[in-house]
Amino acid sequence: MLASFVFGAADAALEGHSMDVVLLYHTPDPERAVAAAARLCYAPVGAAELLESMSDEAVAKVLKIIITSGHLSALEHASYTFAIDGVSRALTHQLVRHRLASYNQQSQRYVRYDGEPAFIEPPVVAADAAAHEIFVSATEAAFAAYKQLLDAGIPAEDARYLLPNAMETKIVVSMNIRELLHFLELRCCKRAQWEIRALALRMLELVEPTAPYIFLDAGASCRRGPCREGKMTCGDPYPKAPKRD
Ligand SMILES: Cc1cc2nc3c(=O)[nH]c(=O)nc-3n(C[C@H](O)[C@H](O)[C@H](O)COP(=O)(O)OP(=O)(O)OC[C@H]3O[C@@H](n4cnc5c(N)ncnc54)[C@H](O)[C@@H]3O)c2cc1C
Repeated sequence: MLASFVFGAADAALEGHSMDVVLLYHTPDPERAVAAAARLCYAPVGAAELLESMSDEAVAKVLKIIITSGHLSALEHASYTFAIDGVSRALTHQLVRHRLASYNQQSQRYVRYDGEPAFIEPPVVAADAAAHEIFVSATEAAFAAYKQLLDAGIPAEDARYLLPNAMETKIVVSMNIRELLHFLELRCCKRAQWEIRALALRMLELVEPTAPYIFLDAGASCRRGPCREGKMTCGDPYPKAPKRD
């Protein structure tokens, strides 16, 4: 069910795109970790013992209670780290607005672009011959000017002012599950900009198998109920997610 929601949408948005998203690591057995932390509130024993002793049924029961009640703080005890390459600075500028995540990004101060530049071209531009020509000549001109400044002895931290939003970049991001669910709600939404939406869909595709109960209905709000975008709705909701047992 989730696969049909995720695949296709991401692939269509990413056709011909260089985005590379790797789930580097995550909390082992994230659902058990979250359930043990939540159960601790009402247990006479510690979280370490609960982590070992809780049955799978007990884990599912606790997860259902915290998710349906909105008592989500325990979701902060499991986290995920992604390596994201081949995306634009336009994307990462939006990504880093999510303040409860952690980031490290390739620096335009310390990395000088000496070789061939890599630019992310929006598919809608690439598909239009005239727009594509404008895009290529503008990005090439900007990059040529950047190199001229470097050659003139201007530091990379100042020459980079000429680099466009289309410049390719790399970033590492870590999010706990609570923040990840929030990010996925906003950025899988069809109102989100195409590149960050494609990223969010890829991230969901990667995390879903690691915690299928938690991520069962993750993504845009329309998967769980009415669209939360109000008058701004795209009018084209995703299929509804299955209900939790
Ligand atoms: C479709 C779309 C269009 C957008 N358009 C624009 C735009 O035109 N201009 C623009 O500037 N931005 C825009 N944004 C970015 C948006 O305003 C948010 O900055 C971004 O989505 C991060 O969301 P957030 O603050 O909820 O998330 P996070 O920073 O990840 O925070 C998660 C949650 O933590 C809580 N939180 C975090 N920090 C605080 C705090 N300081 N005080 C209280 N609670 C806090 C909030 O509940 C928040 O929802 C857009 C986003 C989307 C999805």
